[in-house]
Amino acid sequence: MRRKAAFHNLGCKVNAYELEAIRQQLESAGYETVPFEPGADVYIINTCTVTNIADRKSRQMLHKAKKMNPNAVVAAVGCYAEVHGEALQADPAIDLIAGSAQKENLPEMLEAFFSAAGAAQDQGCDRAEDLSDGRQSCDSLRPDRTGSHTRAFLKVQDGCSQFCTYCIIPYARGRVRSRRIADAAAEAAKLASAGVREVVLTGIHLCSYGRDLPDEENLQALIRAVHEIEGIRRIRLGSLEPGSVTEPFIAALAALPKVCPHFHLSLQSGCDRTLQRMNRRYTTADYEEACRLLRVYFDDPAITTDVIAGFPGETDEDFEDSRAFVEKISFFETHVFPYSRREGTRAASYPDQLTEREKRARCAVLRELNDRKREEFLQRRVGLPVEVLFEEETEIGGRRWWSGHGREYQRVLYPAGGNLANEIRTVCPQRLLDREYLVCEP
Ligand code: SF4
Repeated sequence: MRRKAAFHNLGCKVNAYELEAIRQQLESAGYETVPFEPGADVYIINTCTVTNIADRKSRQMLHKAKKMNPNAVVAAVGCYAEVHGEALQADPAIDLIAGSAQKENLPEMLEAFFSAAGAAQDQGCDRAEDLSDGRQSCDSLRPDRTGSHTRAFLKVQDGCSQFCTYCIIPYARGRVRSRRIADAAAEAAKLASAGVREVVLTGIHLCSYGRDLPDEENLQALIRAVHEIEGIRRIRLGSLEPGSVTEPFIAALAALPKVCPHFHLSLQSGCDRTLQRMNRRYTTADYEEACRLLRVYFDDPAITTDVIAGFPGETDEDFEDSRAFVEKISFFETHVFPYSRREGTRAASYPDQLTEREKRARCAVLRELNDRKREEFLQRRVGLPVEVLFEEETEIGGRRWWSGHGREYQRVLYPAGGNLANEIRTVCPQRLLDREYLVCEP
């Protein structure tokens, strides 16, 4: 009888990519994928530990799975499992723990678990656990196909060696490992032949891509290789940092028409004092220069970012500097996060930790700013032609639409009718709906 496996993902795009690969691995090993509901024999939860909230959600999901079927095998996989393996070992809801380095071996781990379960239980040991750090190369978790035939994530890099003082990720994912260009390009070609038109080059610290490879295998060369693949019509990049956004790099990107004018440039704080204490390796002046260059080489590109509010020791003046900088840069989208104290990081022991209330208040100020700037950006696009990759039919505001994304990643709605799935069309939106969607009227 085929065992039933249910899957749940938490966290980033890299995690989502890896869980899809795990799902396919288990299907090849004979498991049947079922919804994340009662009735599965195995529950795989790909956990995240980037913030306290991510930790809590990971734990909640693991317990929810055990509640749904107390006889099922509940497997904690990925970052939270890696960093908090010891705590999970003491948790009776968890049967199997596979940290970042072990998750590609899940079929074998489950096999071993099932065949040893009876004997192990007799000896009072009913779980499998392996958290030794075997991270030597970019793992071999690769999905063979994608659920969506429009856009697909392509993981090209894993790990981070930056050690920002607030971040637990280097401990959870290990040092930088990059995928060879030929290997990544082969996957992109496979995706193209499966009908995918847009790929998003993704990694934990994309800027570090190639540091562990021969000189000629760098991020620019990787983008060129993917650009050459017929069938791929658009390329988006995951998160960049000012250090890698040099003029030669941007000029090279601007010469590649498939590269979308949508850049996520991680900021974290718009205050130099805070940036230094975060161990970010750039200043606000570097950051501003990177944005200026992007705006010279691309016509009104969408620049998006992440900002942390309430880092330990962030004074009112520091926060005001940060807010004013975010306002000055004028982002399409600012993802705002309250500082989350991660045990084991340097910032966790910094004095002057802010209260949750103070952090929430600062987040609210930045989110209000984000809403305003985002609307300004979208409003500027009303009446302008936009090339849209259509994805799905959907209902919004009581009407049916075809929905897709422009090259700058703005959502565009087009009146329903016919089949536009996976089609690229240039349209001209006439208005903004709900401060979110650019709408084309019939
Ligand atoms: S660059 Fe900094 S914030 Fe980003 S993953 Fe690495 S350590 Fe974490």
